[in-house]
Formats: sequence, C-alpha cells, structure tokens
Amino acid sequence: MSKPVILVTGGTGLVGQAIKHVIETEPEGSRFGKRPGETWIFASSSEGDLRDAVQTRQLYEKYKPTHVIHLAALVGGLFKNMKYKLTFLRDNILINDNVLHTSYETQVQKVISCLSTCVFPDKVEYPLDENKIHTGPPHESNFGYAHAKRMVDVQNHAYKEEFGCNFSSAIPTNVFGPHDNFDLDDSHVIPGLIHKCYLAKKNNTPFVVAGTGKPLRQFIFSWDLAKLFIWMLREYDDVEPVILSGRSPPSLTALRLLRLVGEDEEVSIKQVADAIVKAVGFQGNYTFDTSRADGQFRKPASNKKLLALMGGFQFTPFEEALDITVDWFLKNYDTART
Ligand code: NDP
Repeated sequence: MSKPVILVTGGTGLVGQAIKHVIETEPEGSRFGKRPGETWIFASSSEGDLRDAVQTRQLYEKYKPTHVIHLAALVGGLFKNMKYKLTFLRDNILINDNVLHTSYETQVQKVISCLSTCVFPDKVEYPLDENKIHTGPPHESNFGYAHAKRMVDVQNHAYKEEFGCNFSSAIPTNVFGPHDNFDLDDSHVIPGLIHKCYLAKKNNTPFVVAGTGKPLRQFIFSWDLAKLFIWMLREYDDVEPVILSGRSPPSLTALRLLRLVGEDEEVSIKQVADAIVKAVGFQGNYTFDTSRADGQFRKPASNKKLLALMGGFQFTPFEEALDITVDWFLKNYDTART
C-alpha cells in the first residue's frame, strides 16, 4: 500500500487553512492529528485552475494523491451570489467535474467533497436532513451555486454505481474562523460584521447591520469543521452526505448573551451582531438597515446523523470561537481578505 497523500483542494481558503491548523496542532497520531507516513497538500488556485481539465490533471500528476478533500469552489456572499448566478453555476460545475473525474481516472481511494446547506430546497420541512437535498428547487438567490453543488451528490452516486468509487460529501452550515473572507461587500455574515464593527470602532461611526437582524442561522467554527472533515476522510465510508452542523453547548455567559431558547442551535443575526460587538469591544449603538435583503429566513439543519456516527463531539463554544476569529482578524488585518 502506498503512503497516504491527502490533497486538499481550496487549501488556502477558510476551511482549508483550518484543516491545516488542526493537522499541525493536534497531537500526532491522535484522532484528528497527522498520522505517521501521511503527506498533506494544501493547494491554491495558483497551483492549478481547477476549472481547467489539463491543469487539474497536472496537479494530480504532481502530487499523486491517494485521498482528496475537495473544498475548492467559487464562494461568495448573498449579493455576489444573486448577481453572478451563471458564473457560480458554471465555475463550480467545471471545478467539481474536473476534480471528481480526475480522481476517478487516477484511482484516488476516497474523495470527500463539500456541499453547503444552500443546496436544500427553499420550501422544505425543517429541520433539514440528508434525505431532503433533491426534494425541490433551492432558494432563487443562489440557485447557480446550489445547483452546481447538488450535482456533486448526483455525481458521487453515479461514480459509485458505475465505477465503485468511494466518493462522498459533507454539508456544512455557515462557517466562520481565521482566514475567512472579510471583504465588506462580498463576505458571509460573521466576517462581514466583524470587519464593519472593527471599522465603526476605529472611526467612531455607527455600526450598521444589513437587513432586519431577524433571520436565524446555524454556524460552525472552522477548526471544529476541520476535525469533522478529517473524521469523514478517515472513518466514514458511505456515498450519502453528512450534515456538519455546529452545536456549541453554550457557556452560561453565551446563553445569556445569545439568549438561546427553543431551537438552541439557531441564532438570529441580531444575536450574532451582539456577540461581535462584545468580541470587538465596540461601545456605540448599532442599527439595522431594513432596506437590505435578508435572504432565507431560517434553514435549521439536523446534525443527528453526524453525532450518531461519531458518538459525540466537543464543539468550541460560540463566543470562544468568535474571540479567536476576531483576534486573528485584528492581528492579520493587513494581509487578510478585506
Ligand atoms: P474560500 O473562499 O475561503 O476558499 C476557496 C478556496 O478555493 C481557495 O483556496 C481558492 O484558492 C480555491 N479556489 C477557488 N477557485 C478555484 C479554482 N478555479 N481553482 C482552484 N482553486 C480554486 O472558501 P471556504 O473555505 O469558505 O469554502 C470551502 C468549501 O466550503 C467550499 O466548497 C464552499 O462551497 C463550502 N462551504 C463554505 C461555507 C462558508 O460559510 N464559508 C458554508 C458551506 C459550505 P485561492 O486562494 O488560490 O483563490
């Protein structure tokens, strides 16, 4: 048996860098740490544009991966998703097809690809679970991205049925952590709000949150997600996807801060903004710009399958994860994606 070479596509992004962090900091040989003989490759787009079949093949020929965690994707916030639907559809279809087909052709032993809870139907019974992906059209705001991602699940099944490939996929909820995209116009909610709040504090200006603050979301800290990807790569052997959703058992302070009631896995955007204000140390008041679109109101996803398979997992408390993220942002402001 050849020694494992694990190629992480999109290795320079938020999730890829989190996997790198976990592999480098967890004790060697532990459940999530590096194992003897393993080589981990964290590839960026500069090593090969995965929209291009030839460049994808060259990347595989260079590293000869035995396993692939496929994260590379055109990713964006709500407004970019709404504006560039065809680009999101086409780029992601090309990237996914090249990665999966080259993995098949070069006999990669296992591929774990990355979907998103955006793939689920807009009109669906909550909570989301792994059986509901294809039961109706996705929300129109990101249908390009969502359809491209859904096709990965379709392809995984087809590769398994026709060629016996061991390809599967993970479905994370909203991810945040160090190395996120903190761009003010094109980021996900947490990094965008952290950046805005930081600027409001620095410039002594109001902190304005887009939308009503009412939509509910589930978040997962990137370092926790990284461990779950490593677990899937090593211990999960089924084509069916697994939802990777963070259920942070909140500390008392977090409970008070986030006023978690009922569906305790969901937090409102306002609750997130409150927590960011605290982590950044912003003293002023902030307002909500209700003229901006809210996006989907809620989309709770169940992590029952994950927890049943893993037998429990210690999630990082939300406020601790937020502090780590804010701290990273402040220390890396000059080089972060802003
Ligand atoms: P980032 O935007 O942080 O990183 C994207 C990565 O993909 C980068 O390494 C980038 O390389 C690479 N990439 C983009 N286009 C290409 C290309 N054409 N060829 C090769 N590499 C490319 O993304 P995240 O880490 O946030 O996302 C990782 C995965 O998780 C994605 O599949 C995403 O859909 C999924 N996901 C993310 C969520 C989130 O909240 N962030 C939620 C749910 C799912 P480079 O640095 O060189 O540009």
